[in-house]
Amino acid sequence: MSAGQSLLCLSLTSSTLAENLALARRYQRLVDMVEIRVDFLEQSQWSGIGKFPLECPLPSLCTIRRRCDGGSWIAPEEIRLQLLQTAANSNYSYIDLEADLPERTVSLRLPNQRVIRSSHDPRGTPSNLSLLARGLARNDREIPKIAVTPRGISDLKEIISVAHKMTGPRIIIGMGDYGIPTRLLATRLGNFLTFTSVGRNAAPGQLDPVTMQCLYRFGTFESGFPVFGIIGNPITHSRSPEVHNRGLSSASVPGMYIPFRVDSLAEFLELAPVLGIHGLSVTIPHKETVVPFLARVDSSVKAVEACNTLLWEDGGWTGYNTDVAGFLSPLNRLLSTGYIRRATVVGAGGAARAISWALRGANVDVLIVNRNLRRAQALAANIGADSIALNDVNLPGRVEQFSDLIVQATSVGMKSSAEDSLLKDPIASVPLTGREIVYDVVYTPIDTPLLQRANKAGCMVISGVEMLLAQAFEQFRLFTGIDYPLCESKRLRETFDSSK
Ligand code: NAP
Repeated sequence: MSAGQSLLCLSLTSSTLAENLALARRYQRLVDMVEIRVDFLEQSQWSGIGKFPLECPLPSLCTIRRRCDGGSWIAPEEIRLQLLQTAANSNYSYIDLEADLPERTVSLRLPNQRVIRSSHDPRGTPSNLSLLARGLARNDREIPKIAVTPRGISDLKEIISVAHKMTGPRIIIGMGDYGIPTRLLATRLGNFLTFTSVGRNAAPGQLDPVTMQCLYRFGTFESGFPVFGIIGNPITHSRSPEVHNRGLSSASVPGMYIPFRVDSLAEFLELAPVLGIHGLSVTIPHKETVVPFLARVDSSVKAVEACNTLLWEDGGWTGYNTDVAGFLSPLNRLLSTGYIRRATVVGAGGAARAISWALRGANVDVLIVNRNLRRAQALAANIGADSIALNDVNLPGRVEQFSDLIVQATSVGMKSSAEDSLLKDPIASVPLTGREIVYDVVYTPIDTPLLQRANKAGCMVISGVEMLLAQAFEQFRLFTGIDYPLCESKRLRETFDSSK
């Protein structure tokens, strides 16, 4: 770790000291210190906490978090205070004391021992965050720590603004999905440390040490490194951080690609330059609503009226749509040889718009099929295509006329815990002869019901992973100015294939 970097602290949440010690030893090369969470220990272990720092290979922090602060401690307060004093009498480097405890709750024994003076809100973000931060540390041996739960981007903005106003060592963390950037960008916030955990999370949003160090390369860069990311809502399911961080690492490009859960685009786009964001991927539901915020757009964004890539250039955002090139990538050879002349596109949403525009640009005649006929007709009129409703009795015959390529571009077939009923083939009424190329843009699961049927019929099939990776590689080129490393793209494809 270089000077000015935040420390990475492994929260140990096992129920025995022996298990915690084993974890500290296993991860000692990836983290700088450990936090022993006494509130997660079995009662029989409490008497051994004084010995823990003597055996632990890393500096230790002792924390006994109460239920009201998001922890698990339910035994009497006097026992908690006794255990905290035991920790202060032992070799712990840091003792965590909540804001409501008096200054001299414990007397410190070692000259370098410090108190982390903490304030938690597991439910939200208090409106007086700035005031709270100012009054937290009681003396020079105390490091203020605030851990709150942002409920949206405006809370995240406030947390970051408060962090930037604070001087001296501090810890200010947003818990949950909205707060993940405060953990990954701890150094940029001036945080003294950030937490990581394995197994049971000590707090919502913590990432494990391997992900922090090997994927995000936490603590590796000098200050001012470029930040990239993906904005969407929800966002934690996205595989883009895996794709982009692996590419950056393999190409030895400094930078971190972060998932940003975004509810308010306007507020996020104000925050982005403060965080030093150079480029962003855009996903559902922001691809269309982001367009009015852009200073410049390329021709595909103009035509498709949707944008999936932003670059911060000359004080404003430039928008690109790499879905177009990403979709075409596995088809380029087939299109250039004239093998595909007529195609069916199922869907009329954002993805279908980019796809049908790309196909029309390659001189392919297109039939748009959609549940909502009016939407299909509007898209067809826009790009010069035919249209038909998904439930039209004439659907099989019409598709047969446009069946060199059949593209499935609805969200049907996509795995979603909320709507497992959607795990089906949206064009089950259309027979497949084996002559068609069938391309499903859904990538979770990779082997969709439609692709399974197409495979059985002997069709050539293309999965949504092809488009996902190709559009991401195009984004990578825009973000970094270099091609995605070939060796990493091969490894990535293997990772995706093995998760089929
Ligand atoms: P969108 O704008 O919300 O459009 C959704 C489309 O799905 C609409 O055509 C909608 O029809 C249709 N649909 C939804 N539920 C349906 C149902 N129960 N029965 C029939 N049709 C239904 O979404 P999008 O951005 O176009 O994304 C569509 C899919 O493409 C998603 O699964 C997304 O993950 C995937 N995608 C993949 C990639 C990739 O790189 N592989 C890139 C972009 C998108 P109505 O108009 O009738 O509502």
